[in-house]
Formats: sequence, C-alpha cells, structure tokens
Amino acid sequence: MKFETVIGLEAHLQLKTATKIFCGCANRFGSQPNTNTCPVCLGLPGSLPVFNEQALEYAIRVGLALNCQINPVIKFDRKNYFYPDLPKGYQISQYDKPICSKGYLMVKAGGVEKKIGITRAHLEEDAGKLIHDKATNSSLADYNRTGTPLVEIVSEPDMRSPQEAYDYLTALKLTLEYLGVSDCDMEKGSLRCDANVSIREFGAAQFGTKTELKNMNSFKAVKSALEYEVNRHAQVILSGGKIVQETLLWNEEKGMTASMRGKEQAHDYRYFPDPDLVPFTVDAKIVADVKARMPELPKEKFQRFVDSHKLSDYDASVLVQDKKIADFFEACVRASNDPKKICNWIMSVLLKEINERKLSIERMTLTPENLAGLIKKVEEGVVSNLAGKDILGFMLDTGKSADALIAEKGLAQVSDDSALEGMLDEIFLAHADVVEQVKQGKQSAVGFLVGQAAAKRMLKAGH
Ligand code: ADP
Ligand code: ZN
Ligand code: MG
Repeated sequence: MKFETVIGLEAHLQLKTATKIFCGCANRFGSQPNTNTCPVCLGLPGSLPVFNEQALEYAIRVGLALNCQINPVIKFDRKNYFYPDLPKGYQISQYDKPICSKGYLMVKAGGVEKKIGITRAHLEEDAGKLIHDKATNSSLADYNRTGTPLVEIVSEPDMRSPQEAYDYLTALKLTLEYLGVSDCDMEKGSLRCDANVSIREFGAAQFGTKTELKNMNSFKAVKSALEYEVNRHAQVILSGGKIVQETLLWNEEKGMTASMRGKEQAHDYRYFPDPDLVPFTVDAKIVADVKARMPELPKEKFQRFVDSHKLSDYDASVLVQDKKIADFFEACVRASNDPKKICNWIMSVLLKEINERKLSIERMTLTPENLAGLIKKVEEGVVSNLAGKDILGFMLDTGKSADALIAEKGLAQVSDDSALEGMLDEIFLAHADVVEQVKQGKQSAVGFLVGQAAAKRMLKAGH
C-alpha cells in the first residue's frame, strides 16, 4: 500500500503589545513571577476585561499579510477547561466569529511555489506558566503570561510531507517577522506550533484519522515529530490496526511521540459567547488604516532589491531570507550607494566571518557605516581586496572603523612605485638564487618571492 501524508498546522503567535489583551498589565517576558498581574488576568470575580486595540491592529496586520478576509463583526467566546495555569477556568478565545478567515500563504516547497490555505487566524489570551520544582517536589504557578495576546493561525490540511510543513513554517515565520508584531522566538515561546497529521491511501476520497502533536520547540523538531508519526501511522494501519484520534507529546530526547490525552471535541469545551465582551464591529476605517501602514513584506522587498538595487534574483532572495540581514544591507546602501558591491561583501565575506565568530548580525559591533567605509577603501585602492577581508575580521573583533584599523596596522597599499621597487630590489638581492630559478622558468619559485615581499610589508607595518 502507498500512503499519502496529510498535514495541517496550528501556530500560536504572541503579540508584542505593551500591555495584555484584556487588562493594563505589562506584557513582558522575564519579569519576577506574578509581578505583572491584576484582578482581571488573575480571574478574580467581578473584574471586567477591556479589549486592547493594539492587539486588534496587530491581528489585522497578520490577516492582511496572509491574504485573509478581515471579518466586520467579531466575537469572543469562553473555552472552558480546568488547569492550574488558567485561573479563570476558561480561556477567552474566538470560536465562530474570528477576526481573520480564508487566506493563504505562498510557500516555496521543493523548488515550486505552493499555495497553503489559511483557514482562520483568531485572537485569544495565553495561559500562565507552571514551574515544576524538583527541589521541593511541588508545582509553582506564574501568572505573568496569563492574558498575553495570541493570534492562532490555523492552516488547511494542505501539506503533503513533513518537509512541506517545515517549508510552510519557515515562510510563515519570515512573513510574521517582517510584520514586526512579535519576536517570533520559538525558544522564548513567542511562536509555538502544534501539528496535525494523518495518512490515507493514494487516491482515497477522505482523509484518514488524524493525531495532534504538541511540545515541539523548533521547526526541526516539528519535522522529526511528523516523520516519526507518519511512520507510526503506517505501521499501525499495515498491521491491521486503527489510528485513534488523540493528542501526543513529542519527546525530543527519545525521538518519539507518547500519548498525552484523548483528543477532545469542540463540544467538550462548552464554548459560549463571553457576556463581558459584546460582539465587536471592526470599522472599515481601522482595516484601511492598518493596510495603509502595512510594513513591506518579503516578496515586496525582494522585488525592490531586484528593481531598484539591481541585484540578481539569487542575491536578493538570500538577503531577504533574513530580515536583519536585509535591513543591514539597506543601511549600508544608505551609507554609500553601491548595492552590488555591498551585497557581494555581505554574502561572500561578512556572513562567513560572523558565522565563524558565532556572532549574529544584530549583536555584532560592525556598523553599516563602517562596512560601507571599508568597501570604499578597497574600491579606491587604498587597501587590497585581500587586506580588506582581514580588516573586516578586525572590525568584527574590535568594532573599530576601517580608517582606524588601516592606520593602526599600517595596512595601506604601497602605491609609491619607488618605495616598492626599493623593497623588491632588496629581496631580489637577498635571494639571487631563487631569482635565477625563476629566470630559468621555474614558475613555482615565484610564490616564495611574493611571500618574502608580504612578510616584509608586515614587518614594516609593525604587525
Ligand atoms: P479539531 O476540531 O480537531 O481542532 P480542525 O478541523 O479544527 O480539527 O483542524 C485542526 C487542524 O488540523 C487544522 O490545521 C487542520 O488543517 C488539521 N487537520 C484537520 N483534519 C486533518 C486530517 N485528517 N489530517 C491532517 N490534518 C488535519
Ligand atoms: Zn492584568
Ligand atoms: Mg479546531
């Protein structure tokens, strides 16, 4: 039997609003436990939620970037369940009237563009965090995170392999990063993902029974968990068994999934409209405003790099893949308008050097002005291309400018012919035997003389 894999993903995105979604508490990561709390986000009786307009605008931005329809009337619903990280006993979410629906994202998967449907993107609040303390064998609750605004982005079951799921997540994250509405940091939990997977015989009309995977903390883990699960499904079915719809946890260390709980159905949650938050009309003007202030998306930036900066498709696509690199590139172009050269330096020298130093573009001390300055020195012939690369290394290590380093290390190219000739005469005199070999056609001996010249320059420069 040949099986086809079917995958749909649910991504949770924490919005970086100043305050929480229904109260004025700071929306901040890393504070002392339970310091960013109030009666509303602690779920104390009698407290009333007030909807955060910034969260609405960010959600609309997400929806527009994902080609969604922005719904004119939205509603908040209570999703009821008990867990110690949820003091109210329900999560405020959106059930049948979400802010965004019916969108799509174009994803480059296996070299071709594929359209992945977005079923919906809705607003909801995050739960708190439990800390399981081994020392005291107890669990502690931190409610700083309760009430953090989330957008849950639900995809259609349009992906056909774990690799496609990985490609979708990569494209989604890039788009979300460009929007500037979230840190999109999986390690900090500001971007989280659950994966739904099933298999069916090729050509079958209906989808197979799906399982839901949780607890993956990187895109690679999502891919590995899906690969494991696809195999498990096939083995169960081939041995005559049936897949049970359930929620499984990915165990990264063991490289396998384990059952967490039977999958609950929507009716288990007893969704009902939150009486404290009446249905809300999304004014067309709000949507128009958000649209007018939309940041540039990866595709648009790519096109602009090709059209205005005259970069090749390849170069533009590499730069655009990382917003921070793209921004750095543009800052360099603003400092000295030579996009092609700057692009070459970033792609063939800078990225390699920062990799070797385990630096990141946002944490390095090299400024766009300093890189542009160095490139100018190379272009003007003040330093050679080769010396330029060394200088870039020094710049990364010290944060100094090219001018300062050239002066300090005496790396300027000697363009005074007589000084050069004098130096070469000395070398030829000292190594007359080698010069003789070269004269007789031994080309390999040239390298030795070049080496001597380079060494002499270094000595003179006090290197
Ligand atoms: P549930 O009611 O269990 O939450 P939904 O229909 O809301 O299921 O879908 C949740 C996610 O699961 C969506 O991302 C959807 O694309 C995906 N999904 C739905 N059915 C399947 C299936 N048979 N196989 C794989 N993924 C699926
Ligand atoms: Zn609060
Ligand atoms: Mg669902």
